[in-house]
Amino acid sequence: MSTASANSNKPRILTGDTPTGSLHLGHWVGSVQRRVELQRSHDCYFIIANMHAYTTRLAKSDEIRRDSIEIVRDYLAMGIDPECATIFLQSEIPAIAELTFLFAMLIPFNRVMRNPTLKTEIELKGLGETYSFGFPLYAVGQTADILAFRPVGVPVGEDQVPHLELTREVARRFNQIFCHVDEHAEDADHTTLGGVFPIPRADVGKVGRLGGIDGVNKMSKSLNNAIYISDSAKEVEKKVKKIFTGRQTATEAGDINNVLFQYVRTFITDAARVQELEEKYAKGDNIGDGHIKLEVAAAINALLEPMRERRAKYEGNEDLVMEILKAGCARANIVAEETLARVKSKANLVSWPRALAYV
Ligand code: ATP
Ligand code: MG
Repeated sequence: MSTASANSNKPRILTGDTPTGSLHLGHWVGSVQRRVELQRSHDCYFIIANMHAYTTRLAKSDEIRRDSIEIVRDYLAMGIDPECATIFLQSEIPAIAELTFLFAMLIPFNRVMRNPTLKTEIELKGLGETYSFGFPLYAVGQTADILAFRPVGVPVGEDQVPHLELTREVARRFNQIFCHVDEHAEDADHTTLGGVFPIPRADVGKVGRLGGIDGVNKMSKSLNNAIYISDSAKEVEKKVKKIFTGRQTATEAGDINNVLFQYVRTFITDAARVQELEEKYAKGDNIGDGHIKLEVAAAINALLEPMRERRAKYEGNEDLVMEILKAGCARANIVAEETLARVKSKANLVSWPRALAYV
């Protein structure tokens, strides 16, 4: 079995998901596909950010627990191999909470509130003025989720790039204040100059922002516009049929920048067919949305079928998922504790060696 230490010579990456629902096609194209590609060449850490789900679903902690487990099943279905990648729960890594407190001092309050992703989330999720203090704090917490693992790269969708920018700022500031890295140092030189943290780069997937079936918003767990990895073939067909394009007839010139055509380009693997569909649609050459939707649904089902088969092995088998998570948390704590010890030493916090272990 590969372990975190056996992987330690490989470049490290960290990314993850919030358990606000199960995973959808946006997760696959934006981040998970990339993770599967990198899992053998990189030392991979995948965090289930369950504490962050409490920012908006506090009253539904039973659902957060269920979704945390479902996401692990989705990972396994999508081809993440727990023998080489470490899958773990945020709430089981105390170093993350400790780093969040310290990092909160490195970021101006107004800088957190200016984050465009946070603003969009407040609007889209209808949080109004009533969101908890913990909601904006999650942006700070995310810097700790990432930096606790000192990764070089973070495979994420486009919407996460502003969060990652905040993480990069925290890493630079920590290295400058506590490790005496020159403020003009290049990002790539921070660790050779004595910084604890590499400055991690965003690694945006094949499609940085997949639209939802509403034809307007980003496909999102919270917006009821998603095609899930766990959807049946019938559900996929039904949802694809619902995609809104606004086009009325097969002879109307269509807009190939609409969501339906984003799906055509993303999921139909035959490049010549994609080009043919684009040409016909743009001209209104007697090709109806209904027909294109059938082809798109078939292509999505071809992608999902092997995932459904893999998923079936883990359905109803919670013990196996728990074993994977527990082993992942143990491995993740080794790395995060090492980061925390280095941080405390550099930040002049008195501390003694400690080890975390499950009984
Ligand atoms: P929520 O609605 O709760 O914010 P979400 O569907 O946006 O959920 P997250 O857990 O916030 O999912 O995102 C996990 C990862 O998947 C992030 O890297 C994010 O950028 C990526 N991602 C999510 N939705 C999409 C999408 N539609 N297209 C591309 N990437 C996406
Ligand atoms: Mg999101």
